[in-house]
Amino acid sequence: MENISDEERNVCLYCGEKAVSTCGKCGVAFYCGRNHQEKHWPKHKLQCFPFIIKHTESSGRYLVSSRDLPAGSLILKEAPFVLGPKATSSLICLSCHIPLISNNFVKCTKCQWPMCSQRCAEQSQHQEECKILSLDEKKCGVPFQHGETPRYDLILILRCLLLKTNPEYWEILQNLESHWNQRREDAEPHHTAAVRYFTEVCKIGFEDDVIHQVRGAIITNAINTKSPSGVTLRGLYSKISLLNHSCFPNISLRSDKNHVLFIRTTVNVKKGEPLYFSYVPTTDPVWCRQNDLKEIYYFTCNCIRCSSQSEMNTYYSSLLCGECSKGLFTFHQNISIWKCNHCSKEVKLKEIMKQSNDLIQWVNNKKISPKHVKLFLKNVAEKCPKFNFLYFETLQLILAFLKDNNSIESNDTKKEVWEDIIKILSIVEPGVTRRRDRELIKNILSSGQSNKDPEIFFDW
Ligand SMILES: [Zn+2]
Ligand SMILES: [Zn+2]
Ligand SMILES: [Zn+2]
Ligand SMILES: [Zn+2]
Ligand SMILES: [Zn+2]
Ligand SMILES: [Zn+2]
Repeated sequence: MENISDEERNVCLYCGEKAVSTCGKCGVAFYCGRNHQEKHWPKHKLQCFPFIIKHTESSGRYLVSSRDLPAGSLILKEAPFVLGPKATSSLICLSCHIPLISNNFVKCTKCQWPMCSQRCAEQSQHQEECKILSLDEKKCGVPFQHGETPRYDLILILRCLLLKTNPEYWEILQNLESHWNQRREDAEPHHTAAVRYFTEVCKIGFEDDVIHQVRGAIITNAINTKSPSGVTLRGLYSKISLLNHSCFPNISLRSDKNHVLFIRTTVNVKKGEPLYFSYVPTTDPVWCRQNDLKEIYYFTCNCIRCSSQSEMNTYYSSLLCGECSKGLFTFHQNISIWKCNHCSKEVKLKEIMKQSNDLIQWVNNKKISPKHVKLFLKNVAEKCPKFNFLYFETLQLILAFLKDNNSIESNDTKKEVWEDIIKILSIVEPGVTRRRDRELIKNILSSGQSNKDPEIFFDW
């Protein structure tokens, strides 16, 4: 238990008398003493988390740590309240979610969707959605071929609509951010098709606005996790959906085989600091991150990294100035103008993007032999600051290129490439992060040690 100051004095949650102490775990539950805290614990443990939910006009609801949290602290463990296939998925069984390979599957006799077995088609969890999918007389929503298909998008929407009979989950779903008004206006083809499927094909009595909201909530909040069978599913999580975004996150998400997410701090977080995770890959250059955030989440990022012209002195998205060959371009005016930090030459974002694309193409078209990888990396490092996004992309390319080459020389190079990747990840995702762990584990695996980590990695 921690002592609390006079201003924060509150009443005991158990007896209502003047409180003298607070729960050491969450810091927001008050007690008259240890005795009442212990008596209240069976009830309080269900709500005891080291964060509080705050609200502002500009950011909506968000989570703030309620005490000092050392790096690696488990903040929350949460199971999805609804789970389903990704929007675009290869064939999977709607009951057990295993991948359906070659022609080794059956079709549900009622709805015609592919299932792993007749037994799975008869499972109770399939019956409600089967009834609705069966309303599709022409079977225009049924996936009929192998390979990825966007038809699986319908399943999670349907599972969300079926939550209508559960007032608790329906309310959580209704309260999720969805930007449904903008999405209705933007009329992105997949969005419109999904809404029409449930209003015109499987008519189940929902107003189209409800379906705009539900699909919008999924696009905005769903988190992808991998099943032990290798299939990626997406789920909605009520508390985790309150986490705000930063391109410089201070927490990481990982999931176990049941799609339960574990949120941990990656760095030391002080009491009162907001908890952030990144909705987009932190290894993307600033214009890609901003573009994705605008298109999918409808906001412009003003995080600590995006507000700094050099991305906190990392120059992660900067390119070399061709004018003076000495300076680096850094961004100004919400990244629309880029200025050389040596000769002050100004160029527009469009020009920076073009130069970056040209460089990426140059890297991709380069014929590299395993012998010349190191020289090639040196060449790339001359065209961009070391440890920027282009260098990162090149490192990934080299790993893919050397994937099946296990000569001593190639393994040596891979080790060096991994070290650089880990260095870059420690710049854009400091602390103990999932991605860095993943790279470290890959590295360990390749040197013959086993991965005993029970949690599976959260999948982008
Ligand atoms: Zn009391
Ligand atoms: Zn507590
Ligand atoms: Zn199955
Ligand atoms: Zn069925
Ligand atoms: Zn940002
Ligand atoms: Zn210059």
